[in-house]
Amino acid sequence: MPPRVLLGDEAVALAALHAGITAAYAYPGTPSTEILEYILRHTSNEPGQPHAAWCANEKTAYEQALGVSLAGRRSLVAMKHVGLNVAADPFVNSALVAINGGLVAAVADDPGMHSSQNEQDSRVLADFARIICLEPRHQQEAYDMTREAFELSERFDIPVMLRLVTRLAHSRAVVHVGEPIPQRPLSKAEHQADWILLPSNARRRWRDLLGRQAAFLEYTETSPHNTLSLASTDLGVITAGIGRNYFAENAPEMAETPSHLHIGAYPIPVALVRRLAEHVKRVVVLEDGYPYVERSLKGLLPTRLVVHGRESGHLPPDGELTPDTVRKALGIAPHQSSISAGYQVPERPPQLCAGCPHLDSFHALQRALQGRAQSFVASDIGCYTLAALPPLSAIESCVCMGASVGMAKGASDAGLRPAVAVIGDSTFLHSGVTPLMDAVAADTDMTLIIVDNEVVGMTGAQPTLLSSSRLEPLILGLGVDPDHCHVLDAHPRHTSRNAEVIRRELDHPGLSVIVAVRVCVEASRARKSAARAAEGVPA
Ligand code: SF4
Repeated sequence: MPPRVLLGDEAVALAALHAGITAAYAYPGTPSTEILEYILRHTSNEPGQPHAAWCANEKTAYEQALGVSLAGRRSLVAMKHVGLNVAADPFVNSALVAINGGLVAAVADDPGMHSSQNEQDSRVLADFARIICLEPRHQQEAYDMTREAFELSERFDIPVMLRLVTRLAHSRAVVHVGEPIPQRPLSKAEHQADWILLPSNARRRWRDLLGRQAAFLEYTETSPHNTLSLASTDLGVITAGIGRNYFAENAPEMAETPSHLHIGAYPIPVALVRRLAEHVKRVVVLEDGYPYVERSLKGLLPTRLVVHGRESGHLPPDGELTPDTVRKALGIAPHQSSISAGYQVPERPPQLCAGCPHLDSFHALQRALQGRAQSFVASDIGCYTLAALPPLSAIESCVCMGASVGMAKGASDAGLRPAVAVIGDSTFLHSGVTPLMDAVAADTDMTLIIVDNEVVGMTGAQPTLLSSSRLEPLILGLGVDPDHCHVLDAHPRHTSRNAEVIRRELDHPGLSVIVAVRVCVEASRARKSAARAAEGVPA
């Protein structure tokens, strides 16, 4: 097989295909989106080909992957780190069932929050679920570890997490690939009680999972992903994932070759850590994300040992590590900056695209809110979150997927009215439907505005699960009063009329839902050029 130049995400996707997956599921989210995009480009969903699909959210994606595993076949589920919060219920509980076909959860963390609301570290959640986690340091390992993860999942009967970070997910390198293997045959899990987490079974399965921890540790103590080289008796460096690259870049400038433990497979290899600790006087930990290894060391190492890392203050506590930011902790002088002190790079805050339909929706909403003594506009995760910035400054909250609906309800319950929730169509289907049911049940005095751009705009115009025409029936089916459910055309020529409809519904002392529809201009452009290409018209 010829080598390929692949993104870290693409290396995971190709490895999953080569590992014989029967299905792959995901919800788009930076920096994990390209995993399923790659699989979709390389499968046809024809019989015999792997099935690949975008799902309503990460929880439904995970559960579908789990169903594939029960059927004895391999499945991949991909998500960003905060998506794992949404999938946490099936994720944690699936560690207790007897995984049948290999199940791999590829979770891409976003240290530095390039496109996320936090920089939580998924290794902590793998530890919480008591499963094995693999953390590649480069694209080749992303490929190799993904293939291995399926084998580990079947060997140890657990889901296995593959933890990526943005810098790896979104950079390219040459990857040498292996021979693809065929899909596993259909072979339903034999012991159904191992899949029914009634308390009596769950207690048994939990004890079983705890009993297998020693085997997981034995694997990581001997895994080639965890390597120890003893050199200096003064300094030991522990690297995790891509932290190894930052160490390797600086190591030639260090006065003495430090002892080095690299960790790419978790649970943390305790015996290797102890051997390092017995050999050195101090340890520096280079890991992207939380000080997960650093914190764990405090319970593993002799108290005399000095541990420097992100928590001790010797490395930046937040953001991505870089080759430059680790130099001081390694005892190397910082690079001289070529940018003169005091030079100010002009700020270029992100903005909604010119002609974006969300602009029209917010203009109409702002008109409708004019003259009111108080109001609250909750919003959500999507392009429309940019309405928080000037000149619009039109929203007052953005916390997590779907939170706008529940928060508007809570604000209304507290007496802060008019309470408005603004949410995209995809985010509504991801996590907004269930809080809307709460609002329907209570006929809450609030207005929900679904800004329907017909795609998942922020992550590259993936298709929304339900088309615009199917949203209104869904909303009415939940019990929203048809007299207070409106579909508007989010176009500048309708701003006055749309503002009037919104104003009326803000005054209605109950629940109203407004769907403001117009396709994302970027998606519209892409559709037109795809149609031209299909007709053979040059771009
Ligand atoms: S990508 Fe689409 S939805 Fe997002 S800002 Fe641009 S036009 Fe608006």
